[in-house]
Amino acid sequence: MSQPDAIIIGTGVIGAAIAFEMSKAGWKTLSLDRNAQVGHGSTAGSCAIIRMHYSTLDGTAFAWEGYHYWRDWAGYLGLPDSADLAQFKETGCLVMKTEANGHLDKHMTYSAELDCPFEEWTPQQIMDRLPIYNLDSFAPARRMDDPEFGQPNGAQLQGAVFWPKAGYVTDPALSAQNLMAAAKQRGAEVRTGAEVVEILQSGGRVAGVKLASGEEIHASVVVNVAGPGSAHINGMAGVLEDMTIETRPLRQEVVHVPAPEGFDFETQGTIVSDSDIALYCRPEHGNHILIGSEDPDCDPHQWCADDTSYNHDFTDQWTTQAMRYAQRVPSLGIPSKTRGVVDLYDASTDWIPIYDKSSLPGFYMACGTSGNQYKNAPIAGKMMAALIDYVEGGADHDAQPLHFKLPYIGRSIDVGFYSRKRPINTDSSFSVLG
Ligand SMILES: Cc1cc2nc3c(=O)[nH]c(=O)nc-3n(C[C@H](O)[C@H](O)[C@H](O)COP(=O)(O)OP(=O)(O)OC[C@H]3O[C@@H](n4cnc5c(N)ncnc54)[C@H](O)[C@@H]3O)c2cc1C
Repeated sequence: MSQPDAIIIGTGVIGAAIAFEMSKAGWKTLSLDRNAQVGHGSTAGSCAIIRMHYSTLDGTAFAWEGYHYWRDWAGYLGLPDSADLAQFKETGCLVMKTEANGHLDKHMTYSAELDCPFEEWTPQQIMDRLPIYNLDSFAPARRMDDPEFGQPNGAQLQGAVFWPKAGYVTDPALSAQNLMAAAKQRGAEVRTGAEVVEILQSGGRVAGVKLASGEEIHASVVVNVAGPGSAHINGMAGVLEDMTIETRPLRQEVVHVPAPEGFDFETQGTIVSDSDIALYCRPEHGNHILIGSEDPDCDPHQWCADDTSYNHDFTDQWTTQAMRYAQRVPSLGIPSKTRGVVDLYDASTDWIPIYDKSSLPGFYMACGTSGNQYKNAPIAGKMMAALIDYVEGGADHDAQPLHFKLPYIGRSIDVGFYSRKRPINTDSSFSVLG
């Protein structure tokens, strides 16, 4: 290819969305990924839940905006009718009211302020939708070797909030491939099997990348969207020093189990976030249930030294999560053969992403997605394209952060919220919930 204007490292859902949005804005982009296929980083392991409830107003606004692109996926991409597209299943998301989430007062206030629909449900309404449920309270979450593991604490769940517009995407890797196909339609190029090993610099500015093959590719803009490999790439670029927010690979296990016999969870079920047992779940193809962890204090965080060499096998964390869910669904069968996903979050210090420039002119980062940014990929792509235009146009984003209008909900956000140099956001849940 001729020399690109911008190199994007990573072809996950966020990297591919940035490629699409920058191509639409007139950039000649080249996306690089060391994997053999687009979207086969942590995106492929994602639960791909599209929810709107967040513990900050900005987080809620971004996610509510993000929903609109999934709702109109085909329209957003503009691919030929014959294209095989990922599907958005609008199941709704039920969130149990607990002490841990402040009975969702903050979440409802933010949703109401943003005209994002939600309904308060009584315990009876929960049981009507999920007759397999048992509403005993088990908090706090415990590990299996705790003698009180699985013992109800005597209280009952008092209700929940249902966000009807939430849902999930059936095939997250395919969604990244869809975005990349749409980007290519706009002139973007992509190379897989291309591992970046060095960030080139010249005259105090980024100058391109060097690949493991020894090849150098030159461009005056480089964007780090390397997912759990982001800290390594930021280290290569020498931009870690002025960052107050760190990013680190964090290992996660996701459980797949069949739904209890006689209940069609795939069509009757919904996404559920249940901090009483520190789990979230969603329907999965073949009447399965997919169960992820909300990272309770009792579970040690499994930080990984790097994003390539980590334990890909299930551990007793799989069984712990399955058994915790069986507290809520007593008829759940737990197969002896473990199935599911082991993958990595790119966790940031406050579990809020970084969408920002860096101390090296021309080098940008979209990282620290902390297990909760799949849903935001299209709008993050749009915002990054606007940010890069803003800074390359001469603006000082650190001193005067870009204000960016979210096109669907019509609200302007201060992109400095996602700064690499922000004070740690104490409103965050400091968990995958963001
Ligand atoms: C188990 C799990 C469940 C999740 N569930 C949800 C959810 O329900 N809802 C939600 O909103 N979010 C969820 N997330 C988070 C979401 O999936 C991620 O935020 C998102 O997929 C990150 O996309 P990305 O493009 O930034 O990174 P990735 O998809 O990880 O892509 C990064 C790419 O960079 C490449 N790369 C890295 N280093 C190099 C290098 N040196 N040279 C070349 N290429 C390189 C990798 O090969 C990879 O393909 C979940 C994540 C996990 C792991």
